[in-house]
Amino acid sequence: MYLENLSLANFRNYVSLEIPLGPGTVILWGGNAQGKSNLLEAVYLLATTKSARASNERELIGWGAMHDPLPAARVAGELRRGGETVKLDVGLVAERPEAGDPNSHTLRKQTRVNGVPRRASAVMGTLNAVLFDPQDVDLVIGPPSSRRRYLDVTISQMNRDYLKALQRYARILTQRNHLLRAIREGKSQGSQLRVWDPPLIEEAVHIHCARRRMLEEMSHAGTAIYEELTVTRESFALGYLPNPRELSDIGIEEEEAVAEVIRALLSANVDREIGQGATVVGPHRDDVRFEVGGRDASLYGSRGQQRTVVAALKLAEVKLLESNTGEAPILLLDDILSELDETRRSRLLQTALGSEQAILTTTDLDRIDEGVRARARLIRVDGGRLAEGE
Ligand code: ATP
Ligand code: MG
Repeated sequence: MYLENLSLANFRNYVSLEIPLGPGTVILWGGNAQGKSNLLEAVYLLATTKSARASNERELIGWGAMHDPLPAARVAGELRRGGETVKLDVGLVAERPEAGDPNSHTLRKQTRVNGVPRRASAVMGTLNAVLFDPQDVDLVIGPPSSRRRYLDVTISQMNRDYLKALQRYARILTQRNHLLRAIREGKSQGSQLRVWDPPLIEEAVHIHCARRRMLEEMSHAGTAIYEELTVTRESFALGYLPNPRELSDIGIEEEEAVAEVIRALLSANVDREIGQGATVVGPHRDDVRFEVGGRDASLYGSRGQQRTVVAALKLAEVKLLESNTGEAPILLLDDILSELDETRRSRLLQTALGSEQAILTTTDLDRIDEGVRARARLIRVDGGRLAEGE
């Protein structure tokens, strides 16, 4: 799939932008703080309806528009997939409350597909994009929650049932934890747990099996890609660390056995759970481990190795999305060339050139060899304006 065009209005430092795109590789280049990452953020917003970096999406509305009576930002694009054109459009409007603090806006987001308003969850999976930016090294060195979030976003792009199972699991977990605390305080009976355990186990099995299948595929693809990216043939391995760990010994198709292990551990841990007022068994405590040369990459990996791990994962994700949906996702590579040596850099660029549509950014065109530059479209980004060429 690819975007045929992109248009922005009052989005970050772009007051107004219309840019034709198309299949192939675009290199956005320019100094710091000119709008390169902002443009990738806009494409990512069309894919997920969310920003990958804003903590509050009000930050996306251009400062110049914040004095308007109804400050608003808009990102729109025409997507070509499976021989059809789909119009995507995300609007953000900051509404001032009638009373109270005039600076505290509430944000309204509207997503449309072919002009028809749709829920965010229905839009997910229309435009698939894989974003790779320097922040992503957190996947390797950050807390387990960042790896679980990565699994969840990746699987959700391919499988909408997974997202629903996750949402149900989170709801059940909250209610069960609430009950555990009530039991601890003597306000509820322990026998009431029997109501929550069967649905909790059902969703836990669903989530566990989906993560396991995805990580198995990811591991095959990732290992091969890691070897391609490094010439030294460092070995790379990826391992699922499920909670409970006992699940690692069970075959991938044995859902009933998975359910049995979770059930047994839930009842074995019931006193501990009541004491802590929290569910201690289940996929909300899963983790993933990355190894380079047989050692934990989060502890022993060099910065470049950690970046290479993330690059391999992201490229594996591209392959998985393509094999599961039949369409290659759009590759967004933000400033990824620093910290990688020449071999890794050039192999990563070759992969970008081979994908249906890739948009990458750099502050330094010299980091990109002539051969790649000649085959890509170069666009200079300067203070929220674009100009073709070197
Ligand atoms: P770098 O090479 O440093 O990563 P970049 O070209 O990727 O730079 P961006 O992150 O795209 O830079 O940001 C460009 C500019 O946009 C920054 O100066 C930033 O302060 C500005 N900016 C961020 N949010 C808004 C906003 N809501 N309105 C206007 N400008 C904004
Ligand atoms: Mg940037």
